Amino acid sequence: MKIKEIHVYQHDLPVKNGPYTMANARVYALDTTLVKITSDNGVVGWGETCPVGPTYAESHAKGARAALCEMAPNLIGTDLMQPRMLHRKMDNLLNGHNYAKAAIDIAAYDAMGKHLGLRVADLLGGATTHRVPSYFASGVGTPDDIARIASEKLAQGFPRIQIKVGGRPVEIDIEVIRKVWETVGTNMKLAVDGNRGWTTRDALRVSRECVDIPFIMEQPCDTVEDLQKIRPQLNHALYMDENSTDLTRVVHAVGTGLVDGFGMKVTRIGGLHPMTTFRDICEARNLPHTCDDSWGGDIIAAACTHIGATVKPNLLEGVWIAQPYIDGHYDNDGGIEIRDGHIDLPTGTGLGLNIDVDQFGPSIASF
Ligand SMILES: [Mg+2]
Repeated sequence: MKIKEIHVYQHDLPVKNGPYTMANARVYALDTTLVKITSDNGVVGWGETCPVGPTYAESHAKGARAALCEMAPNLIGTDLMQPRMLHRKMDNLLNGHNYAKAAIDIAAYDAMGKHLGLRVADLLGGATTHRVPSYFASGVGTPDDIARIASEKLAQGFPRIQIKVGGRPVEIDIEVIRKVWETVGTNMKLAVDGNRGWTTRDALRVSRECVDIPFIMEQPCDTVEDLQKIRPQLNHALYMDENSTDLTRVVHAVGTGLVDGFGMKVTRIGGLHPMTTFRDICEARNLPHTCDDSWGGDIIAAACTHIGATVKPNLLEGVWIAQPYIDGHYDNDGGIEIRDGHIDLPTGTGLGLNIDVDQFGPSIASF
């Protein structure tokens, strides 16, 4: 089954009740990129990549589309049934740009699953569950607001809350953490995510002053060197998110014992194929992790849910999807949604979605 056509679409995803605020970004609407691959035997696969604005990571929406247009002409004729070979081919066409390659990777798995009559989760090693836990990520907010959100999300069935911090005096972050802890206690897993926004001084202070609160500290500071510096003095488990840009970084962080787990994003690491390698490295070292992405619509949400369902359950910290924060679905009947803090694994073949292509308008490029 070979790639016959590649179509690239641009689509705007409005943020509900925006903006969504993080230490280093405010998000009002998302510019997402969709990829439709048609095979020589008529199977269609969909992929997506959606950077959360141009400052969150070294990626941006127009960059994704430029990278896809750079690779696409030479991907025509490539075998869709050989994901490792597909990645080698993409790497030979373009250095880096994992987040663009991920859209092709996801579309290839969707097509492969539809062709074989299997769910993507089956292709990735097999699902351990039909319902994966999600978690709620608060924006950066006041102690009262974030504690109220935590209480609501606990009532809705979320097993975990991730509190966003950074980009303001650290005293307020400490107040937020304490107030949320007083509100939900051990009824929810707690993650405190700095999105690279704290100095090492801030991170050490938070860990010292909140020594009694059992949260994990996710990507508190900007660089790997910062994490190395604070690691010996931390009282909390340290997770890496934004710094884990590829498998090399993951192998280094795992091998040196730098981290206790990861926030991992499917598109950042290059798609579902590298994600299975990442998952297996973590399982070998008993390290928990999430299966997320930086926003996106139903296609990304389905991809994250399929890989999340294959993770050893005690190591899955949750699957974060953007659905609670955005309006609308690509699949008007079977869109991916969080219910009671969990996401049902789609039952159809491939990603399990019926994409309403009309809402995307004409493709911006076709090959
Ligand atoms: Mg994070």
